[in-house]
Amino acid sequence: MSQILKRYDLDKLAVATIASHTALQILRGAKKYGFRTIAIAKNEDIAQFYKQFFFIDEVWTGDFSNFRKTAERLVAENALLIPHGSYVEYVGWRQALEAPVPTLGCRELLRWEADQYKKMALLEEAGIPIPRVYRSPTEVDGPVIVKFFGAKGGRGYFVAKGREELEARLKALGEEYIIQEYLFGVPAYYHYFASPVYSRIEVFGADIRYESNVDGRTFGWAEPTFVVVGNLSLVLRESLLPIIHKYGVQFAKAVERRVGCRLAGPYCLESIIKDDMSIVVFEFSGRIVAGTNIYMGYGSPYSVLYFDKPMDMGERIAHEIREAAKAGKLDQLFT
Ligand code: AMP
Repeated sequence: MSQILKRYDLDKLAVATIASHTALQILRGAKKYGFRTIAIAKNEDIAQFYKQFFFIDEVWTGDFSNFRKTAERLVAENALLIPHGSYVEYVGWRQALEAPVPTLGCRELLRWEADQYKKMALLEEAGIPIPRVYRSPTEVDGPVIVKFFGAKGGRGYFVAKGREELEARLKALGEEYIIQEYLFGVPAYYHYFASPVYSRIEVFGADIRYESNVDGRTFGWAEPTFVVVGNLSLVLRESLLPIIHKYGVQFAKAVERRVGCRLAGPYCLESIIKDDMSIVVFEFSGRIVAGTNIYMGYGSPYSVLYFDKPMDMGERIAHEIREAAKAGKLDQLFT
């Protein structure tokens, strides 16, 4: 990718992403910083929606089952690709890993994210508290949550109060899954930005996911489910910020050690905060999360601490690209 980047005309850079997830925020931010913007839609209906926005210069439709062609077209257009959860879901992590277009962040991390066990091992390596992971239902001695591999927005996950209930439900499962200790407390998701330009990890914001049916009006009549339908903003107790920042830094170091590439751009740690105020991290995302959309247009509360002006994550990415391009550091951001 660094060879491709060397051939790019830095005065004519385009920022591209898949038309879904956080595309509006990413492209709005990019346009504000003077980049040409490209959205790649799944079909014509979706393309029509994105075409109405002044900050999107071009809307393409792309074949996600064979992304190579689109990737090559992006390179011909001097474009930088910003990956997000829907991109990985649409093209699949293997294609995302190999797509021949400069892609923001540590791409190798996709391989780790595809496997729930490797994911937890990386968090453990970072020295961050994680829930117990049970290799077999026979080890289970309390409430658990069963999760499937791959980004599915919580779909299909279920909880079981103990071993017997778990064993009965596991019989019907055909996909790969992980059994985790069910953590009691409140969910909190931390948005970070890894900046090669400023050589620092920023805590950029936080959110809570709004999940059906755990957050729904079920009166205890419906089974708990964890399908994400939206996100809510969250401001944390300030006394929690140093530890949250520390975990973000530890995670970045672990990625460098174990995965072998430097984190760059947005990432997220997902946790439960227990009633003793301890934080247990059950998941991470190596790229922008949809929870950052909450702050689109008016900026996250913590961005003012770093830049003395509000910025959303789309603007933060664009700012980093602009500064990296000026400093000849684009190859530290894109892999
Ligand atoms: P995930 O796909 O790992 O982000 O999980 C989806 C949702 O399930 C989270 O937003 C939490 O509400 C819930 N969840 C996941 N893991 C745990 C856990 N170990 N204990 C309690 N709740 C969890």
